Amino acid sequence: MNKFEQLGLSESLLKAILDLGFENPTEVQEKAIPLLLEKDTDMVALAQTGTGKTAAFGFPVIQKIDANNRNTQALILSPTRELCLQITNEIKNYSKYEKGINVVAVYGGASITDQAREIKRGAQIIVATPGRMQDMINRGLVNISQINFCILDEADEMLNMGFYEDIVNILSTTPDEKNTWLFSATMPAEVARIGKQFMKDPIEITVGAKNSGSATVSHEFYLVNARDRYEALKRLADANPDIFSVVFCRTKRDTQAVAEKLVEDGYSAAALHGDLSQAQRDGVMKSFRGRQIQMLVATDVAARGIDVDNITHVVNYQLPDEIETYNHRSGRTGRAGKLGTSIVIVTKSELRKISSIERIIKQKFEEKTIPSGIEICEIQLLHLANKIKDVEVDHEIDNYLPAINNVLEALSKEELIKKMVSVEFNRFINYYKKTRDISNQASGSERRDDRDGAPRENNNGGATRYFVNIGSRDNFDWMSLKDYLKETLDLGRDDVFKVDVKEGFSFFNTDPEHTDKVMEVLNNVQLEGRRINVEISKNDGGGRRDHNGRSSGGFGGGGRSSAPRREGSFAPRREGSGGGFRSDRNSAPREGGFGGRSSAPREGGFGGRSSAPRGEGSSDRAPRRSESFGDSSRPRRPRRD
Ligand code: AMP
Repeated sequence: MNKFEQLGLSESLLKAILDLGFENPTEVQEKAIPLLLEKDTDMVALAQTGTGKTAAFGFPVIQKIDANNRNTQALILSPTRELCLQITNEIKNYSKYEKGINVVAVYGGASITDQAREIKRGAQIIVATPGRMQDMINRGLVNISQINFCILDEADEMLNMGFYEDIVNILSTTPDEKNTWLFSATMPAEVARIGKQFMKDPIEITVGAKNSGSATVSHEFYLVNARDRYEALKRLADANPDIFSVVFCRTKRDTQAVAEKLVEDGYSAAALHGDLSQAQRDGVMKSFRGRQIQMLVATDVAARGIDVDNITHVVNYQLPDEIETYNHRSGRTGRAGKLGTSIVIVTKSELRKISSIERIIKQKFEEKTIPSGIEICEIQLLHLANKIKDVEVDHEIDNYLPAINNVLEALSKEELIKKMVSVEFNRFINYYKKTRDISNQASGSERRDDRDGAPRENNNGGATRYFVNIGSRDNFDWMSLKDYLKETLDLGRDDVFKVDVKEGFSFFNTDPEHTDKVMEVLNNVQLEGRRINVEISKNDGGGRRDHNGRSSGGFGGGGRSSAPRREGSFAPRREGSGGGFRSDRNSAPREGGFGGRSSAPREGGFGGRSSAPRGEGSSDRAPRRSESFGDSSRPRRPRRD
C-alpha cells in the first residue's frame, strides 16, 4: 500500500494521483486528509503555498461531495484570480476520474454572465475570489445556501487585500451546519477573528513550526547603500546567470520602473502589477512560465497565487511593509522539494527588520557581500565556457564552415578559444573594471531621493531645458510626448529626456547641440490646428547625457548605470515599435547574451516601449499601464477624445 492509499482516498483519486506523479503525500496532506475524510469537522491549517495544501483540501472535498447532485456543495474562496484558476485546474485534474463533477471558477475581469451560465449547468464546486462572489450573490446568480463545505484558502492574504467584509457577507449566506476549512500561512488577529466567528471547534494543524519558512529555502541578505539597490540587483543577476526569479518591489510604480530599467539594460525582465490589464498579466505569466522572462518584477498582491515551479531566487528588492509578507514572498521558491534562495537587498536603516524576520521564520539569514566585478566576470566566463561545451550544434552551420574556416584557420586552438570567449567577455570586463565595489558601504548617508529604491538618473546640469505649450490636456503623457518629440525632431532614442508633462504645458531636456533644431522645428509645427510654442526654460531640470545616451557620470564612474548590454540590446529595435509585448514571430532571441541567460530577451523586449524611462525618474507620475506595457494599440500620436 502506498502512502496515499493509507490516507483513505478513493480509487479514482488514487488513479489521478498516479497520473500526476505524486509519490508521497506532503506533510499537510498527511495531516489533513484522513481527518477531513473521517470527520465532519471544521479545520484551521497553518500552511504556506507550495506545501501541497490545494490537494489537502481538494482530495477530501472531491471525495465527500455527491456527484449525482447538481447543487453547489462546496465553495472555495481564494484571494486572486490567478490562484482561483490554479485551484480550479488542480481540482479538475484531481477529479478527472470522478464522473459528473463540475468545477467552476468565478473571478473578476471576466464575463459574469458566462460564469453564471456555467454555474447554472450545475457546479458542485465553485472556486471564487471574494469580490466577484459577492457580486454574484447580490445579483442572485448563485445559490450557496446548501453548501456543505466552505474553504478559505490563503485567508491571511484575502484579509490583507481588504476582503474582510466580503468574506463575512458571503459566509453569512451559507448554512450554519457546513464545515469550514481555513488555510492560512499566518494567523494575524483578523484571521483568528473570522475563525472564531464562523467556525466550531476547529481542529488545528500546523505544517512545520508555526509561521516557519520552508526548510528548502535559504535566506541571504546583502547590505548596500540605498542608491546602489538597483546596481546590486543587476550584479546579483549577473552572478547567477541561470537565475529564474521573482523580484519583489513595494509599489506598482517601483515595480514598473525596475522592470523597465532591467529590460533597458538587456535583462529578460517584465513587470507584474495591478495596473496591467488582465490580458497583459496573462501574457507576462505565460512568458514567465515559458521562461522567456528570467526576472519577474512584481508587487506582493500581483504575485499571489503564482504557481511556477523551479524558481531559483526570490529577490526582495525592497522589504515588504508587513514583515509577515516576507513568508509569502520566500514561499515562491523552494517548492516541491526543490532548493531555493530568498535574497534581501537591505540598507543599514532596515537591518533591524532582518532580525524581526528571523524571529518569524525561525531561520537565520546569511549575510553576504555583493560580488565584485571581477568575481562576476569569473562566474560569467565559466558559464560561457560551459555553455560552449554543452551547446547542441545545428548542422545547418555545416554549409558555412568552409568560409568560417577560411577566416579562422591561421589561429591555434588556444588563440581561437581565447578570442571566442573574448567576444562576449570583453564587454563584461570592460564594464566591471570601471565600476567600484558596492557591497557593505552603507553609511547612513543614503540619499533621500533614492529612498524608494526606484532607479534614478543622475542630475547633472548642462542640458537645455525647454518649456512647451502642450501637455496632458492634449492627451500626452511623458512617454507619448517623448515619442512625439523624437519623431517630430528626428532625434535618437535618448536625445529627449527628463520629460515632465503638466496639464497645459510640459518640460523636456535635450543636449545643447540639439537646441537650434528644437527651437526651429518645433516652433513651426502645428498640433491639430494649434501652433506649438517652445521656449528655453529657466528651470534646468537636470540631466545631461553622454554620447551613449547614458547619464553622464554614470557609466563606469558612478558604478550604477547600465550593466553591459548584450549585442543588440541598445534596442534601436524599439524605436517606433510603439509597444513591447510582441508576438513570437517578431522575436528572434537576441544575439549572444553573455551570461547565457536561459532565454535572452526578445526583440521588442517585455515592457519595452519605443523608449523606456531613462531620465523620467523625475516624473511625478507612474507610467500608466496601457502606455507602458506593450500596448501596441497605443496611439503614436495624441488624440483628442
Ligand atoms: P500547493 O501548495 O497546493 O500550491 O502545491 C504546490 C505544488 O506541489 C503544486 O504544483 C502541486 O501540484 C504539487 N504537489 C501537491 N501535492 C504533491 C505531492 N504529494 N507530491 C508532489 N507534488 C505535489
